[in-house]
Amino acid sequence: MKLDSPIFTDKDAARIHLEAQRWPNGPICPHCANSDQTRITSMKGKAHRPGLYNCLECRQQFTVTVGTVFERSKIALNKWLLATFLMTSSKKGMSAHQLHRMLGVTYKTAWFMAHRIREAMKEDVASSGPMGGEGKTIEADETYIGKRETPRKLARGRIANPTKSGKAGGAQKRIVVGLVERGGKARMFHLNDATKETVRDVLVRNADRASTLYTDSSRLYTRTGEEYASHKTTNHARGEYVRYEGAEVIHSNTIESVFSVFKRGMIGVYQHCGEAHLHRYLAEFDFRYNRRTALKVTDTERHDDLLSMIGGKRLTYRRIGEARYA
Ligand SMILES: [Zn+2]
Repeated sequence: MKLDSPIFTDKDAARIHLEAQRWPNGPICPHCANSDQTRITSMKGKAHRPGLYNCLECRQQFTVTVGTVFERSKIALNKWLLATFLMTSSKKGMSAHQLHRMLGVTYKTAWFMAHRIREAMKEDVASSGPMGGEGKTIEADETYIGKRETPRKLARGRIANPTKSGKAGGAQKRIVVGLVERGGKARMFHLNDATKETVRDVLVRNADRASTLYTDSSRLYTRTGEEYASHKTTNHARGEYVRYEGAEVIHSNTIESVFSVFKRGMIGVYQHCGEAHLHRYLAEFDFRYNRRTALKVTDTERHDDLLSMIGGKRLTYRRIGEARYA
């Protein structure tokens, strides 16, 4: 896919391409889920916009963007497709400033488009199920990024204070927990607080307990690790980053490298990220990692995959500022 493709320059070409990705077997009514092609008619003629369909089951009209993150946008579809292509094919993401310049839309519009696109990048964890399984290896780790906007509350209502040197330290940073299946997918989560309980909750909901688990020697994982088929650790405090046990290569370098791409993107491209939006940036980096070039996914395939995911995920101005923790 090149940037001079008609889907990026012509709104009808963009719509036809989007219809093909969302509806590989023909239009589906977003109001009543009717997919019987004999019960859906195309509204043709000068009086109607191209791409308008009529559902004979529920008697309502629809287009390909109804019920998607593109709904009720005044931005031409070809610009949406250019924005989605740029964001899905740039390894560290693309800033709203750059989208604003490249698309010729206002900064505010570009910012909101980018957040809607991130919302579309969110994997439906309920339908894709947990990662790992028998014979599979999951690496888990946590990382700290950026300053918290709300101080972390400790037990009995105390608040974690910055150190005397003025440095925030881990206590005043945002907490991200990440899981990755070796050779497979990654999922990162923003936690309000990292405790044995919150970390366990993320682990058991997202990583099959029949998996082998590798972590560092943090006490966050000790008890939960016992629930897994096997749990092995490397002791980073003692300078141990990899250990060999027979055929096993024990390390958590894979999840470290996922964090590393995320952090470089956040520092180099995004710089300012409100705490309320962090979950959406994490979804963006997961999306690209899970369709990385090393898995032989092309830029076109990654983009088309996103276009198939835009449904059922509307993002409004009202909802955009709500923080979501794992
Ligand atoms: Zn219908």
